[in-house]
Amino acid sequence: MGLKEYAAKREFEKTPEPKPGLGPQADRRVFVVHKHAARALHYDLRLELEGMLKSWAVPKGPSLNPSSKRLAVMVEDHPLDYKDFEGVIPEGNYGAGSVILWDRGFYHHPSARDENESEKLLLDGFRKGDMKFVLEGEKLHGEFALVKTRKDGKSWLLLKKKDRYATNGEILLESRSVVSHKTLEEMFEAGAGKFVQAKETKPDPPSRSDGKRRPEGCADQTDAA
Ligand code: MN
Repeated sequence: MGLKEYAAKREFEKTPEPKPGLGPQADRRVFVVHKHAARALHYDLRLELEGMLKSWAVPKGPSLNPSSKRLAVMVEDHPLDYKDFEGVIPEGNYGAGSVILWDRGFYHHPSARDENESEKLLLDGFRKGDMKFVLEGEKLHGEFALVKTRKDGKSWLLLKKKDRYATNGEILLESRSVVSHKTLEEMFEAGAGKFVQAKETKPDPPSRSDGKRRPEGCADQTDAA
């Protein structure tokens, strides 16, 4: 997919989100889960692949219960630097709202013997629409799968495989950032207006005629950014 769509949706003078760029690939593949209070609250699962973050918006968030299948709507690739982003995307920008790093860590293919093999198997799985992977996060652990549905080109299901990390407990009750330890609400209070104030000398951008947030990709399932 590349990063063109990511760049096209954003004005980097107006949002604190990182500009596109291929980051150096670390030895181990990273994953993050953002919790994002956009028009609708959702979680964004991002997996490092091909030097970028493949990204899915998960409206109901991940689950550790193998019987819960969670819709995961594929959205545009994000730059690798996005793995460190949390903050407040100002009103009027794509995906406006607070973002926290709800979880992060490393991930690999369950049967890979090394990172090279892992990348290859992950990529094969991604292209087939049946991607198996093991998360080593602070909240999420164990084997998961993303399985593409036949519904449209972008709907996948996020599943927890049965293993010793599977549980009926509700992991989403753990609501704080693994980095700043803030909740979304605390992030909003700490970050609201900061980025806008820094740009105060610039004239206001022309507002949209309907005065609403930009709706791209913001159908109910895909209120993602
Ligand atoms: Mn989002």
